[in-house]
Amino acid sequence: MGAEAFRDSVSHIDTSGKRVWFYPKKPKGKFYRWRTAVSLGFLLILFTLPFIKVHGDPLFLFNVVDRKFILFGVRFWPQDFFIFMVGMIAFIIFIALFTVVYGRVFCGWVCPQTVFMEMVFRKIEYAIEGDFTHQRALNRGPWTAEKIRKKTIKYILFFLVAVLVANTFLAYIIGVDELKMIATEPLSGHLGGFVAMLVFSTIFFFVYSWFREQVCLVVCPYGRMQSVLLDRHSIVVAYDHVRGEPREKFSKEEKTGKGDCIDCLECVRVCPTGIDIRNGTQLECVNCTACIDACDHMMEGVHRPKGLIRYASEHNIATGKPTRWTTRMVAYTGLLAALVVLESFLLVTRADLDVTVVRAKGTLFYHEEGNRISNLYNVKIINKTRHDMEVEVKLTGSNGTVRWVGAPHPVVPADSLIDTQFFITREAAEILEQQSRLTLQVWSNGEQITTENTSFIGPLSSE
Ligand code: SF4
Ligand code: SF4
Repeated sequence: MGAEAFRDSVSHIDTSGKRVWFYPKKPKGKFYRWRTAVSLGFLLILFTLPFIKVHGDPLFLFNVVDRKFILFGVRFWPQDFFIFMVGMIAFIIFIALFTVVYGRVFCGWVCPQTVFMEMVFRKIEYAIEGDFTHQRALNRGPWTAEKIRKKTIKYILFFLVAVLVANTFLAYIIGVDELKMIATEPLSGHLGGFVAMLVFSTIFFFVYSWFREQVCLVVCPYGRMQSVLLDRHSIVVAYDHVRGEPREKFSKEEKTGKGDCIDCLECVRVCPTGIDIRNGTQLECVNCTACIDACDHMMEGVHRPKGLIRYASEHNIATGKPTRWTTRMVAYTGLLAALVVLESFLLVTRADLDVTVVRAKGTLFYHEEGNRISNLYNVKIINKTRHDMEVEVKLTGSNGTVRWVGAPHPVVPADSLIDTQFFITREAAEILEQQSRLTLQVWSNGEQITTENTSFIGPLSSE
């Protein structure tokens, strides 16, 4: 086998085309401790956020079914979709910029898949079945009473955690109040919600008990983007081949010309995606840092400097020079800054009322007493505030009156939408065109909220 043989196959599929089941060695070390602490913080935030409310609303809600979206306690309507889109584009640019500079740091430290797999489910597995050698022996061994006991306990715990995770994700979609109702009220009233809960739980159970690293290796689109986002200046988990090669098994006798890598394969044993980081940056590497800890431990043991595997850029390792900002990084940063400014502007200038005025379908105009002409309009008003708003509409730039159908001025309840109608009436003598443009000012509590344009149909001058 040549040095380049690793390019002919992928770590997770064997020569017969079957999946290779990984038994990563339990990591330990400085980075693993830090990642555990970050994961605890992440889990605390993830499980707490659905319970935090602002003025009775959840802090975050992504109810795609009822088209209800709340971000940081601010409710977004489908009419605000463009603000949402700019926010999403800014987020994607942020991810791209972050990846160009720091590689897959996100995957290793805060991706929910990695956090749940490595910090929750894998820890349960280590606690019940032991480290990698014991797990392998247990799986390959016969179905003894002990194996049945261990597997049963493990899968029951896995399913309970999967239910907890599924319920938390559902809480972000339908809110905790709705979730409580599904859990406590008769099933017949919430069959759809209960089925969703069961489906989510089963998917999470399947992913963490069987599919595992395959999510990162074959499903996750972010992993696929690495090849276009990373460059020689991106900081990734990297093996210092300049210092490490030529690798050679450790021996007490000092030889000249050999590298620091003692070819112990500890970095491969701890890798949850089964790769050898010494082959360079690979799509499968989720930057979990387990190999840094493993190698540092070995370097300590043989009294060589730590950091043979470390966070570094290819450029940094090859030249020994520090990582610098490239034109691409500067361009992404400029674009991101522009999008953040645009998003802030859209949020700050978002009107409290969203008003849509459309001339009533199928109608032309009405003759009224006193030689006046009127048009009927359908009006949709969304009140995005948390208090009721009385709405007044005034004509500007043209003479005429606005007369609401029903109440003199409609009152739109907080966080609600109403459909209503009004007539605009003008003196026939002032109507010079068959179709003219009108500008309307929308007022509430003595303050002009927004303006709307619409059309007015009048009779032909010969009529
Ligand atoms: S190569 Fe290292 S950082 Fe990458 S996935 Fe494997 S153990 Fe984690
Ligand atoms: S853990 Fe370090 S020393 Fe051991 S094989 Fe990996 S790179 Fe070489």
